[in-house]
Amino acid sequence: MLILVINCGSSSVKYELLNVAKETSICGGIVECIGGVRSSVAHEVVDGELIKRRIPCKDHHEAIEIVRDTLIDPRHGVLSDVSDVAGVGHRVVHGGEEFHSSTLIDRSVIRSIEKFSELAPLHNPPALEGIKSCMKIFELVPQVAVFDTAFHHAMPEYAYCYGIPYKYYKKYAIRKYGFHGTSHRYVSIKAALVLKKPLEEVNLITAHLGNGCSITAVAGGKSIDTSMGFTPLDGLLMGTRSGSIDPAVVFFLMKKENLTAEDISDALNKKSGFLGVSGVSNDIRDILEAIKEGNKRAKLAYDIFVYRIKKYIGSYAAVLGNVDAVVFTAGIGENVPEIKNEMKKSFSYLVESGTRFMTIRTNEELLIAKDTYKIITEQTK
Ligand code: ADP
Repeated sequence: MLILVINCGSSSVKYELLNVAKETSICGGIVECIGGVRSSVAHEVVDGELIKRRIPCKDHHEAIEIVRDTLIDPRHGVLSDVSDVAGVGHRVVHGGEEFHSSTLIDRSVIRSIEKFSELAPLHNPPALEGIKSCMKIFELVPQVAVFDTAFHHAMPEYAYCYGIPYKYYKKYAIRKYGFHGTSHRYVSIKAALVLKKPLEEVNLITAHLGNGCSITAVAGGKSIDTSMGFTPLDGLLMGTRSGSIDPAVVFFLMKKENLTAEDISDALNKKSGFLGVSGVSNDIRDILEAIKEGNKRAKLAYDIFVYRIKKYIGSYAAVLGNVDAVVFTAGIGENVPEIKNEMKKSFSYLVESGTRFMTIRTNEELLIAKDTYKIITEQTK
C-alpha cells in the first residue's frame, strides 16, 4: 500500500512516497522557493538518480500539482495514476488542545487546523494550503493529519500550565504544547524495540537535535514533559532560536532598542541561537570548524548548547526516576557523537544504574505514513 507524505513549509513542499507494508521509501523530493523566481523541484527515486530542475511555481497548489506530475511522469515517475496512492498523510505542526492523535481530515478538522493557525502562524497556514490542494488534486484519496503536538497530550496539567494568570490560559489557550512529537514518538517506539521492552514499560529521555531542538521525558511510552512550549522557541539553544530566556529580557530590549513585537520575535527566532551567539553560523558543522580555528564565541555557543542539554537530561531524570535510555536523534543528534559521549560521561551514575545512551535515526515520514495507513484501513473496515 502506497502512502504519500506531504510536509508543507512556508515556501517549500517536501514529499515522500512510502510502501508501508515494507516500511520502505520509494521516492521523495522537495519543491522549493515557492512564489520566488528560483522555484525548483528536486526528485529522487531510492537507488535512482536525483533529478533537479527549475520550474515556475507560484503557490502551494501549483507545488502539489508539480508533485503529482513528478510522481506520474513517464520518464522518472513511479506511479501510473494518482489513484495508486492509497492515502495522503500531512504533517501539521499545531493541533491545539483538540487533537490527541492523528486524524482523518474532513471539513471540521480543516476548521480546527485553521483555528490553530493563530498559535502557529508560520506553519499551519501552509499545511492547510497543502491539505486543500491535495483534496482537489488527489481527489477521492483519503487525507490524514498527523500533528507535531499530539504526542505531548499526555503531559500533566502541572507540566503544561504556565505560572501566569489562569484567565489567559482559558481565554487564549496559552500553555505548553511541545513539538517534534512525531519524532519523539518514532524514536521512543524504536528504543523500546532495542531495549526489548513493551513501549508502555519504557522510560526515556529523547533528544531531537536538528535545526529545531527539543528534549522530551517519556514515561511508560508517553510524553510527560518537553522542552519546547507554547511555541517552538522555548528550551534548548537552536540554530537561530534563543531557547529559554528570562521573559523580562523581551520587554527590556523592546524598550531599550525601541523594538516592536515583530522585531523581537524576529531577533529571538531568526537571529539568536548558534548564529546569534557565535556570529558564525546556524549550522553546528560551521561552529565545530570555527572552534577548531580558535573562535571563542563559537565555543561559547557550543558550550551553552551542551550545558542546556545536560540540565534538561538531569531534570528529566529527576522527574522520571528510572531512565531506561537517553536517545539522540535528528541532524545533530545523529551526526555529532561527541554530545552523546559527553552526556554519558556526565551521567555516569545513570549508566551505572543501567541507563543506555543511544543514537536512533528519526523517520517522521514513516510514522506519518503508518498512522495514515492505520486510519484509512480502520475507516474502510
Ligand atoms: P530539521 O530539524 O529541520 O529536520 P535536521 O534534523 O535535518 O533538521 O537537522 C539539521 C541540522 O543538523 C543542521 O543545521 C546541522 O546543524 C546538523 N547536521 C546535519 N548533518 C550533519 C552532519 N553530518 N554533521 C553534523 N551536523 C549535521
